[in-house]
Amino acid sequence: MLLQGKTAVVTGGTRGIGFAIAKKFLEEGANVAIAGSRMESVNKALDKLKEYGDRVMGIAPDLNNPQEIADAFQQVKDRYGRLDILGNNAGVSARDRLYDYKPEDFDKTIALNVNAVFYCAQAAARIMKEQGGGVIINTSSMVSLYGQAAGCAYPASKFAVNGLTKSLARELGKDHIRVNAVAPGVIRTDMVAALPDAMIQPLIQSIPLGRIGEPEDIANAYLFLASDLASYVTGAVLSVDGATMT
Ligand code: NAD
Repeated sequence: MLLQGKTAVVTGGTRGIGFAIAKKFLEEGANVAIAGSRMESVNKALDKLKEYGDRVMGIAPDLNNPQEIADAFQQVKDRYGRLDILGNNAGVSARDRLYDYKPEDFDKTIALNVNAVFYCAQAAARIMKEQGGGVIINTSSMVSLYGQAAGCAYPASKFAVNGLTKSLARELGKDHIRVNAVAPGVIRTDMVAALPDAMIQPLIQSIPLGRIGEPEDIANAYLFLASDLASYVTGAVLSVDGATMT
């Protein structure tokens, strides 16, 4: 067990990649707080993780509200005594074309994908510094390296996630807090699973490893970065994308 005795918060932990990360961390012995946007979806996720008993709990802070985030993370610390790992994973994608892009839609993407990543990192780091260290892992995207031909707020937000990752790694190293990012390729979450076969097949052919990624592929990278196996890894953006764009 790589995470025995550790406590983690995973934002966007109710489904998709975040749920796979939360489950992997639980399998490896951690206590996990699943953070979702609504308590209803958090409870649905908790229902699927009943076998882990008291080692899993739910929180639903508004990720646009730094005080709610700080209070929720404190609640996790009060319950388990520590906060060792933050999986900063909640995010939304975007598809709008530049000519029709509404500024408020651009702002919404940035608010969740960048501002909330900063708020959560700040709240977690304050606790981690006090206890002597911790690990922050941000979910970036392969588009943070290559851009994307629509929905420019999304790649812009993920470039910013990489910037936060590298900057916070440099700032927080002296407090024994490691900060890394995972940059997934196309991963089989609800959104991708709903695409018609006619769209999926050409996509698969463009991936050198010949398949779409599974949420567990990302969870495994998260596990490595969260564990002591990565004790000298900080400021890294780890691509987990089957070499899709390279
Ligand atoms: P998903 O839509 O299945 O899950 C997104 C999660 O974020 C959900 O748990 C949702 O509740 C949460 N969330 C959304 N809006 C929220 C809000 N306003 N407040 C709080 N939580 C909110 O998506 P996913 O594919 O699992 O994505 C997880 C992360 O992975 C995101 O950061 C996404 O950008 C990134 N990513 C996904 C892919 C992919 O192919 N699926 C590829 C690259 C990067």
